[in-house]
Amino acid sequence: MAIDVVRLLRDLVAIPSVNPMGRSAAHGPPFGEERLTRFLEQLCRSLGLHVQRQSIGPGQDNLIARLDGDPRPAGGGPLLIFDAHQDTVPVEGMTVEPFAAAIREGRLYGRGACDTKGGMAAMLAAVARLAELPPRARPTVALAFTVNEEHGFSGASALVGQWQPEQLARPDSPWSRRPDAAVVAEPTGLAVVVAHKGVLRWRCHAHGRAAHSSQPQWGDNAIYKMGRALGVLERYQREVVGALADHPLCGPATISVGTIHGGVSVNTVPDRCTIEIDRRCPPGENPESARTHLVDYLARATGLGADLTHDRPELEGPPLSDADNGPLAARLVAAVSEAGHGPAPTIGVPYGTDAAFYGQTGVPAVVFGPGRLEQAHTVDEWIELDQLHAAAEIYYRFARSLASL
Ligand SMILES: [Zn+2]
Repeated sequence: MAIDVVRLLRDLVAIPSVNPMGRSAAHGPPFGEERLTRFLEQLCRSLGLHVQRQSIGPGQDNLIARLDGDPRPAGGGPLLIFDAHQDTVPVEGMTVEPFAAAIREGRLYGRGACDTKGGMAAMLAAVARLAELPPRARPTVALAFTVNEEHGFSGASALVGQWQPEQLARPDSPWSRRPDAAVVAEPTGLAVVVAHKGVLRWRCHAHGRAAHSSQPQWGDNAIYKMGRALGVLERYQREVVGALADHPLCGPATISVGTIHGGVSVNTVPDRCTIEIDRRCPPGENPESARTHLVDYLARATGLGADLTHDRPELEGPPLSDADNGPLAARLVAAVSEAGHGPAPTIGVPYGTDAAFYGQTGVPAVVFGPGRLEQAHTVDEWIELDQLHAAAEIYYRFARSLASL
């Protein structure tokens, strides 16, 4: 069954799959991936793929859809993963109708058009073409549609858990062994991303003592204490963190303070103030020592002792290293050129993706997809249809080239 990639992308954008980004009150449409999972499940079945769900949480399932090649992976045949996450970022403040999937002047507009339903549509179109080939002319391809990429990577992180030896041995496992390669769809503008930073996020609290604001001398103001800590963190960002680690493609280590909450009312001396810290680690840097360095530095420079505490990280996304994905990247670069869209640059990026979870288990992984990052997460998110068509062709050629391995 041939797939019209533009029409498919319109369908995908029209099905909201907004990540609530940790807001517990956000239930029902447009939030959650379940409606999209059902659609993908039906589509993959109609393509003749072997489809399985992996439950991650209530109403949150990874979907793994496999097209078998010949020989099968268990018999020495190649096994490739095409990964595309199902969730999108929220739609607040958008200046285009987020789910209308309107097409104007060669662009398709809507939430997820670029990040990453464009890549998802292109991968599906490629697999639909591969399904028409005799099994000997293609590798086994597993489409991995993960959940919750935008707020914690829990889908990809659980998916690689299926490659533990005891999980692989289960009779209902969709995998007979670990894959040989993974391509993760994100808007890279058809560049091949071979490395990216990892991310670590945690909360830091300043503690004080509450009192009536008419008698502040009886209290101990937690906001003032956090103010001291913030001054130190600003200096740390400017003068310290960048020298701790660097990567030729991804750039230096960074920190950013993204939120601050403190106080209950203006007539109460606040007993607590909380910030959220985002620390980016280039490939090769150890996230745990990166965090310890900051915590120790802050304690020393502020002298706040037990009045400043740190929670355990609520998010840990590993970096993607370019140490062992060279041959995979070269093959993809060749496919881009053969499709007439080369030469494709190989680059590093600062943001995290599912690819790092595959890479961490020893599966060579790269990030590649249509659409540009500058158009992702924006108020008028869009994708160029030319890029969409090109990506579908490139994914197809790339996958087919693995059959001869
Ligand atoms: Zn994405």
